[in-house]
Amino acid sequence: MAEVLVVVENGVKKVTLEMLTIARGLGSVSAVVFGEADTAKLGEFGAEKIYVASGEDVDGYLVAPKATVVAELVKQVQPAAVLLASTQEGKEIAGRLAIKLDNGLLTDAVEVAADGTATQVVFAGSTIVKSKVTKGIPIVTVRPNSVTPAPSAATPAVEQLTVAVTDADKLTKVVERVAEQKGSRPELTEAGIVVSGGRGVGNADNFKLVEELADLLGGAVGASRAAVDSGYYPHQFQVGQTGKTVSPQLYVALGISGAIQHRAGMQTSKTIVAVNKDAEAPIFELADYGVVGDLFKVVPQAADEIRKRK
Ligand SMILES: Cc1cc2nc3c(=O)[nH]c(=O)nc-3n(C[C@H](O)[C@H](O)[C@H](O)COP(=O)(O)OP(=O)(O)OC[C@H]3O[C@@H](n4cnc5c(N)ncnc54)[C@H](O)[C@@H]3O)c2cc1C
Repeated sequence: MAEVLVVVENGVKKVTLEMLTIARGLGSVSAVVFGEADTAKLGEFGAEKIYVASGEDVDGYLVAPKATVVAELVKQVQPAAVLLASTQEGKEIAGRLAIKLDNGLLTDAVEVAADGTATQVVFAGSTIVKSKVTKGIPIVTVRPNSVTPAPSAATPAVEQLTVAVTDADKLTKVVERVAEQKGSRPELTEAGIVVSGGRGVGNADNFKLVEELADLLGGAVGASRAAVDSGYYPHQFQVGQTGKTVSPQLYVALGISGAIQHRAGMQTSKTIVAVNKDAEAPIFELADYGVVGDLFKVVPQAADEIRKRK
């Protein structure tokens, strides 16, 4: 069975496990990692081989060397497909890889069939497109939160790659790395529970209420674009078409109307709960449970009930 390369650009994340799950349907799974990575986790989700590229030539520069490493590996092992994450970095590696190999590329897939056909959900979820790379092998980027990661244990063989990058790959050097200050909350795109606030929350101070509910539930905080544009919450927490895509077990929408662009980022959530004072708000068309009411009355009561049950 031909190998399928899964590119792990920045440590093992949920999307990595999703890609491994998809890749198992395409061939024998090989992960490509840069520097340190949780090899045990990769094995747990079916990686039979792990190619490791490390050293200053990979670590000290931006994405160009990574694309070169993957391109050389593709020439060497002739894989059946290459999967990358639909992240900023994953997409840039994919674009460079496709150019280097003179190969087709599909981005933002939510599914890849055994014959390489990729499924994309476009126009804010209203249209489903099935596409196939017609030149070369399928190089496909996978949108985070597309599939449920399923373990399938394998004992991976680890192979160290010889990295040979060109001067052209070294034009943008990393001069400093600053670790992002992370709170105790889970990462938005990886969280099992997300509590989001919209314009209805009213101001930045009131977002404490959203945070409080999220913390009680052990979830992440999200926000609508209207909320972030109004300065209630930082932009990196925006959920939707032009924000993050989330697919938690539970999504709680507080004071969010449910515009199509917001839905595009959360409509695959397993259970959706909405609190909105307008009974006609479109979010109720999508919600599994809806409360028509003032969030400033509903949320403190819900928080009290959750506390009692803890
Ligand atoms: C190209 C494009 C891309 C976009 N991308 C995104 C995106 O990624 N994410 C996104 O979210 N939006 C996006 N938008 C914007 C989107 O169209 C909506 O404008 C936005 O989602 C509205 O946010 P909202 O629901 O918070 O605000 P509103 O639509 O103003 O809704 C606020 C809601 O709060 C309710 N409310 C008010 N007070 C209370 C209260 N006290 N208690 C309970 N309910 C209350 C109201 O009834 C109302 O339903 C995009 C738009 C465009 C054109």
